[in-house]
Amino acid sequence: MIIVLKPHTSSGEAREFVRVLEKQSVSIDFSEGAAQIVLGLVGDTAHIDEEALAAHHLVEKVIRVQEPYKRANRLFHPDDTIITIPSKGGPAGVIGGKRLGIIAGPCSVESREQILSLAESVRKAGAGFLRGGAFKPRTSPYSFQGMGPEGLDLLLQAKKETGLPVVTELMDIHQLELFEDVDVIQVGARNMQNFSLLRELGLCRRPVLLKRGLSSTMTELLMAAEYIMAGGNDDVILCERGIRSYDTFTRNVLDLAIIPALKRKTHLPVIVDPSHATGVSWMVPQMSKAAIAAGADGLIIEVHNDPEHALCDGEQSLTPAVFAELMPRLRKYAELEGKKI
Ligand code: PEP
Ligand code: MN
Repeated sequence: MIIVLKPHTSSGEAREFVRVLEKQSVSIDFSEGAAQIVLGLVGDTAHIDEEALAAHHLVEKVIRVQEPYKRANRLFHPDDTIITIPSKGGPAGVIGGKRLGIIAGPCSVESREQILSLAESVRKAGAGFLRGGAFKPRTSPYSFQGMGPEGLDLLLQAKKETGLPVVTELMDIHQLELFEDVDVIQVGARNMQNFSLLRELGLCRRPVLLKRGLSSTMTELLMAAEYIMAGGNDDVILCERGIRSYDTFTRNVLDLAIIPALKRKTHLPVIVDPSHATGVSWMVPQMSKAAIAAGADGLIIEVHNDPEHALCDGEQSLTPAVFAELMPRLRKYAELEGKKI
């Protein structure tokens, strides 16, 4: 249930009203927008007298929310959620609102030289974040599984040298203590419905990049975000990375239509991974532009200095030179959408 308060209601009046509502055993999501305060009631609201609420002097309207996701619902939080990651030295990394976040780097951290040189290349080209997997969720147990803790250390060294905030995947909640200096924790497509992992991430005060499951619906993706938000962590970035379909001419099928659909349903930022969605590097520039045109708040792009010899996902990785060439074009597309990289 949503309660929209009348314009000019002060924060103090609203907070007092919240205290009264909380006596009815619901929890309240408080959202103070530019124009109005919106209160989202989560829990069992069946017993709440809607008419009595609507008659309250501070209330403008009361809306019953049909969707199963509440905290992720745009009705609860009409303004876009903007995620800001402070960085030492460089400008803060921002995703959401009028800022388009570009996350770039290799699929996996492979060596010190590789990650340091790639970090410097993508920073120079204008990326706002560095990606790189240390723990890799591979389909085969015989494929390269990532460098593990050592890879994480190298990624954090690259962060220190370039000032770029880092994004990396957490596969197992027991590894969370190693992730203390990781700026954005990635939940991979294969873990989107690992509910115990999502719940734990809800308790942690770090932005989470949540990738859409290979065969997940939009509502399932939003419910996965709701798991994280239910624990009190509102900084969730949704990522479309392609889904399974019958046609295999691309690795996955990039569902561009989910971007405007999500933007309508949720206040959370939505980014696109054109690398995993297509599986081939030559499609990545066009799909990146398409994603921006469709309203995405950012992109996560795989970049490798030697794609042919990459230990993982070389075929879909851009070279640093192609990435650097692409960036000014992406800036223009962002501008057309009223956004800045
Ligand atoms: C990745 O980002 O390298 C990755 C494994 O992505 P996904 O979980 O979307 O397959
Ligand atoms: Mn990859």
